[in-house]
Amino acid sequence: MNEALHKLNAILEGYKEKISSVKSEKALKELESEIFGKNGALKQVMKLLGSLPAESRKEVGKKANEVSAYLKSAISLKLEELQKLAEMEESFDMTLPPLPARRGALHPITYVTKELNRAFLSLGFEVYEGPEIPSEGASFDNLNFPDDHPARESMDTYWLKGSEQASGFKKLCLRPHLTGASVRYMLSHKPPFRFVYPGRVYRNEAVDASHERAFNQYEALIVDRDVPFSSGRILVNTILECVFGKPVPTRMRAGFFPFVEPGFEIDMQCLVCKGKGCSICKRTGWVEMMPGGPPHPAVMRAGGIDPERWSGFYINIGLDRLVMMKFGITDIRLFRSGDLRFLKQFV
Ligand SMILES: [Zn+2]
Repeated sequence: MNEALHKLNAILEGYKEKISSVKSEKALKELESEIFGKNGALKQVMKLLGSLPAESRKEVGKKANEVSAYLKSAISLKLEELQKLAEMEESFDMTLPPLPARRGALHPITYVTKELNRAFLSLGFEVYEGPEIPSEGASFDNLNFPDDHPARESMDTYWLKGSEQASGFKKLCLRPHLTGASVRYMLSHKPPFRFVYPGRVYRNEAVDASHERAFNQYEALIVDRDVPFSSGRILVNTILECVFGKPVPTRMRAGFFPFVEPGFEIDMQCLVCKGKGCSICKRTGWVEMMPGGPPHPAVMRAGGIDPERWSGFYINIGLDRLVMMKFGITDIRLFRSGDLRFLKQFV
């Protein structure tokens, strides 16, 4: 390599380093004139050009242009960086108090779930969890759903790809309700027992202000020698008082659900409109809150429990609606919107 090229490389490497570590605009300007000034480093090299043979003159000229362009752009980038830093320093006031630290908070559904768990643990219940991907057998057959029950249809249940052609315990789905977990529990525990099981469930539904494709349920089951019907009342009152901190008006209606016999439905007064009628309660003043009743004998048998010797009581709560009532939330879609402005209200 000829001497001129060698010098150009040294200028490039040397000033690259100096430009990147410079700390002030003034020092940067000084570097600029050291490189590009009348007697600057590049000018010195150019002076050698005349004494070079014609063939290397072209090569050195080209290299000099490259080095010059590179260093010019490095200087202008550095200048921008230094100016931004100076602006930030000007606007930085050491005497101002710090911004409040951002705090995380529990999602309102998680919060209410934890409150309910605590209330039931104090009553001697166990907290249990089942899988989110059970089978058709666990979700329907075990729970006394007839083969032609509409909930089995794909319009309600999300079947898992690859298992749609199978049946029974080989056909998998996103759990459409929590009740399947109760049979799983019965099969691995000896009565008497009492437990609650919170969790998310999935239905293929049209979404609107009161319907979501994923929502939360909270279920409780007692199995003992003689479980009186009034146990159901106690469960309901425990749940509502725990969530709302006061007694809530309720009404009971006979209702049919395959897994209970006899079945009933509990409505609570709509607390958003206080019974006057709103979009949450479909203008009726009442909100369907939970089905319940003694487990159907076929469900007890699926759980390996003799329905002649044992009785029980189920309560299945739609947790989203309960939490909406508690906080006066009028659109169920807000829960999973990921909107921090919504979630921050519950900090
Ligand atoms: Zn209402």
